[in-house]
Amino acid sequence: MKQSKLNVGTVVFIYINFLATIGYGIGIGFLIAVCARIGKLRSTLLSGLAGIIFGVFALYASWAAWAGALISRYAEKGTPHAGFLDVLVSPDVIARIGEAVGQEGYEIRSLTIKGLVLFGFWAIEAIIIVGASAYLAGSVIKDMPFCERCHLWLDDKESVSKFQPIQDERDFRYQLELGNYSILSQLKKLDPLSSTFTEFELRQCKKCSELRVLSLKSVMVSTDKDGKEQRTEKAIVDKLLVNAEVFNLIKELRSQMPFRPGAA
Ligand SMILES: [Zn+2]
Repeated sequence: MKQSKLNVGTVVFIYINFLATIGYGIGIGFLIAVCARIGKLRSTLLSGLAGIIFGVFALYASWAAWAGALISRYAEKGTPHAGFLDVLVSPDVIARIGEAVGQEGYEIRSLTIKGLVLFGFWAIEAIIIVGASAYLAGSVIKDMPFCERCHLWLDDKESVSKFQPIQDERDFRYQLELGNYSILSQLKKLDPLSSTFTEFELRQCKKCSELRVLSLKSVMVSTDKDGKEQRTEKAIVDKLLVNAEVFNLIKELRSQMPFRPGAA
């Protein structure tokens, strides 16, 4: 019987490669997000698009580096051969090397993959790198409100916790969108040890104080087997523009006495 060549070492190697691929994409997306924040780019679409463009370029650069490494490995010692920059500006060389490797097969430790399977792997790798880059570049921008008047991100937040869980989240959100803020004061403050609760998140422009944003989250805190706390959050209301009254109302709620079920 033919023995399978897929041993544990190979699986671990592929797995590490897979993680490195995701890490590469995340790294690029993160860099773009940082640039977008510094450059005060507010459009999620533009930032995501930059994530795609730079993700594609980063992927291409990784192919060039790989093709360059193959060329120098097989070049005769002492003879001049193409370096990374030469390969980088020669997409046809990269394509030809890729095609040749596809036919010959690519060795991952003891495992040789080739043809469609190999191209499939490369396609998945490409999707992961470009996808992770675009997703991260876009989503980091999306989560941050911006004061157009002062040209500032609202990056300081204040959390006000812990309040009763909201039963009908859809209706609650609808009421808030209608401007019925009195429902906020119906949420009773809970004991500090409560593990399931509603949390308010307030953001305000630190320059003009005119832009105020309210988010509401449903939070669950659990303890894993190592005694570490794990927090699961779900957005109920995401960055709703509110006025000073609502802000003050929530700040008043903070000083409320915790609600004790059963107490009169
Ligand atoms: Zn402002």
